Amino acid sequence: MSLKQRLIEHIREAGPMTVADFMGAALYDTEDGYYATRPAIGGASADFLTAPEASQMFGELIGLWCAHEWSALGKPAFNLIELGPGRGVLMQDMLRATQRIDGFHEAANVVFVEVSTPLRDEQAERVPNADWAPRLEDAPPGPSLIVANEFLDCFPIRQFVRGEGGWREKLVGIADGGALTFGLSNALPAPDDEGSKPGMVREIAPALEGFMYEIERRLHAASSRALFIDYGYVAPEGADTLQALKSHKKVDPLEAPGEADLTAHVDFARLTRLARDANLDVGGPITQGHFLRALGTDYRADTLAKANPSHAQRLGRELRRLTHADEMGALFKAICLSSPNLPPPAGF
Ligand code: SAH
Repeated sequence: MSLKQRLIEHIREAGPMTVADFMGAALYDTEDGYYATRPAIGGASADFLTAPEASQMFGELIGLWCAHEWSALGKPAFNLIELGPGRGVLMQDMLRATQRIDGFHEAANVVFVEVSTPLRDEQAERVPNADWAPRLEDAPPGPSLIVANEFLDCFPIRQFVRGEGGWREKLVGIADGGALTFGLSNALPAPDDEGSKPGMVREIAPALEGFMYEIERRLHAASSRALFIDYGYVAPEGADTLQALKSHKKVDPLEAPGEADLTAHVDFARLTRLARDANLDVGGPITQGHFLRALGTDYRADTLAKANPSHAQRLGRELRRLTHADEMGALFKAICLSSPNLPPPAGF
């Protein structure tokens, strides 16, 4: 039975499900979920293109950022942890860029946190000496530099819609003809907060709280930093950000669960609040454009173009893609969470 048919049966028996439960099944079902079966990142046949897939400069700068922050930690033996490494391109570029940094590779224990078996195989091809952990909780203790690009946007979201009579939760149910359809719960006993207008959508990612608990535990247990880069907002606009992508095109999220990548924008204000409440230091959020420029991406593009003039045009396009406000430069944000009492991280 297809995942879609199983979800329809489940809803028939148990009633409509939250968007988070639907998203969780579509992404993480161990038999038919997107990550178990067909994650397709990078290249023309892919579903979506991420920054490390778009340009080697992204990983090179993040690698040098890590080397700098390793110095700030006092150059200890440490875990270089990447969450959701995709095809392993980011780590491959990071490691290449840091090859000549004295002691860095010897000190780093590379750990990938990855749910997807097909992606784990691709990661092993690019970074053969890495270790894998199914969850961050399973990564070894000790000082760590954690990086995650387009990881938090996978966290399933619940959605709430403001109607004339208050807030309702968006649910996935079954239409008359038997197809999956979005619907709304009865009105919720939720306060009608100031500034909310009919039609507005609010989103929460319940799994973010549990995940942040583990980040906080780690960052308080040993001097560490966690760098997250993702698309998202600081002030919610009240928009519906659930998005399904297949072959670089937006598709109906309910059409074929498990066959398209499903994501939502990250709530950076919530992330900041959770980190501050746990007494972590917070750098940013700032835009990806600002962050990469502060790390010297213009200079890097220039150096690469001078070494290889025939690549100058392509490098210019990549630089624009990573940093320009009309491309990834403004929608994507960087945030760095740190153990207390460390110097401010580079770039923020
Ligand atoms: N960072 C990569 C890939 C981003 S796609 C890049 O920038 O190209 C999201 C990645 O997170 C995939 O590798 C996916 O399999 C992984 N992932 C999603 N949810 C996860 C979870 N809960 N635990 C571990 N890995 C997860």
